[in-house]
Amino acid sequence: MKRTYVIVGSGIGGLISAWRILSVDITASITIIERNTQPGGLLSGIVYPNGLYFDIGTHIFQETGLNEVDSYIQGAIAHEDLIVFENGTGDIAGSYLNGVLQTNASFPDLRNSNDFAVLSADLHKHLLGVSNLPTIDPLAKMLDISYARFGRRITEDVVYGIQENLFKTPASELAGFSLLLSGISRVISADKENWLENSVNEVYRSIYAFPEQLELPAKFRHSRKSFYSRVAGSRRFIDGIVDDLRERGVQFLFNCNIESFDPNELMFNLSIENQNTRIKADKVIFSNGVIGAAKVCGIDISSVILDRPLAHTIYNLQLEERTNSPVSYFYGMDKSVDFYRVTNYRTFSGNDSDRRISIEILGTIQNDNLLEDLLKQLQKMEFIKSKAIDFSEVVRLPTGFPSPTVKNMRGLVDIANILYKTLPNSVTVTGLGSQPGLFFQNEIIKDVYNRTDSLLA
Ligand SMILES: Cc1cc2nc3c(=O)[nH]c(=O)nc-3n(C[C@H](O)[C@H](O)[C@H](O)COP(=O)(O)OP(=O)(O)OC[C@H]3O[C@@H](n4cnc5c(N)ncnc54)[C@H](O)[C@@H]3O)c2cc1C
Repeated sequence: MKRTYVIVGSGIGGLISAWRILSVDITASITIIERNTQPGGLLSGIVYPNGLYFDIGTHIFQETGLNEVDSYIQGAIAHEDLIVFENGTGDIAGSYLNGVLQTNASFPDLRNSNDFAVLSADLHKHLLGVSNLPTIDPLAKMLDISYARFGRRITEDVVYGIQENLFKTPASELAGFSLLLSGISRVISADKENWLENSVNEVYRSIYAFPEQLELPAKFRHSRKSFYSRVAGSRRFIDGIVDDLRERGVQFLFNCNIESFDPNELMFNLSIENQNTRIKADKVIFSNGVIGAAKVCGIDISSVILDRPLAHTIYNLQLEERTNSPVSYFYGMDKSVDFYRVTNYRTFSGNDSDRRISIEILGTIQNDNLLEDLLKQLQKMEFIKSKAIDFSEVVRLPTGFPSPTVKNMRGLVDIANILYKTLPNSVTVTGLGSQPGLFFQNEIIKDVYNRTDSLLA
């Protein structure tokens, strides 16, 4: 019997769910409901009237490790447009800390700190007392994790300040998730030779970062490649997947509002440009995260107190003169800078004369000359030679950036639990909050894949 599936949201999660359903049930009738006018959610990117393209959020895709799904996404664009980076070479990450633009690695490089000798000795002493180190719990207190990994001195003198600067939030409120976002799972406190000598010790490797990301011996690298499109970045993959799904009969409803949804009858009342319509589903996938799903289902989550998302502003710029920096992106860990992350498209777009950069700001900064100041900061650290730009646009994410606090992370888990208790088995929820600490694009895809499979079983 032909089954009807309704997917809410056409971000990468919703699209991969539709693809997975068709892989298992080729007769499935699938409708994707999208409130925006275009597909892709956070990966839809922006094409400006002059033809310049910028991503939103994610840039480089990292493989999920599920071969089928990785091949599908990579095969969604023309082979000549696909750029694949071997593991460990795709996104060269950096940081700005202690007045130094680190291009060797994004982990805090303690060797640039004035009290390196003291920090290093304290870390060494701490290491001797650590016999095993759990993976970072996204829901635990950030400071507890930092004390356990790096000891007191580095936590209080280094990590504390970096995290407050990045997330504009008191360190005591932050969750382990914030360390995953900024990638501070390790610190650099030894040179290459020293690191290699100690590398048989797993705990050492979990605390001490290798100081030259591109020279990390292959046996210590993760096994995933990353990839990007020469044309139109993340948007190109979305367009390719949407074309494929359409050809295979998937129906897309854009600009579509869900007026009401009955979770027991699986009945949607929709309005599209003032026209009302109803769809009854056999199975439903909410790919708009737990908060979005709770709203659509009319489930009361007022007992859960969340922190407001952080304001998120992106300056998309084209420099007059390209930057020669080798980093794909770097974090603003130092108090002297206002940005959260700067992205350098040239390093991954396949175009060596690419002059596009973007500057992301978290939180609200009162400064009428913010762009001018940001450019000054980038010039001072020698990321750019000149402040001259020939294109500049500002984007503000309407949903903001999830606040990486303990209260918020645990609140999302509480909402997920309320949903899972209330909704029937014929409904599943993916996206932000569907698993503790779920955020990164490759993790979302994996979660969607697994949840869709369970729904089909
Ligand atoms: C600023 C930022 C930076 C990021 N950087 C990275 C990064 O560097 N690396 C990385 O791996 N990940 C990054 N991410 C995370 C990554 O972008 C997400 O994991 C991924 O895009 C999520 O996909 P999704 O399909 O779950 O959600 P979304 O892309 O948000 O898609 C959800 C879709 O559902 C639609 N929708 C919502 N509610 C409804 C409704 N009621 N009715 C109909 N449609 C609805 C929305 O319009 C949207 O199209 C970043 C995220 C942000 C916000």
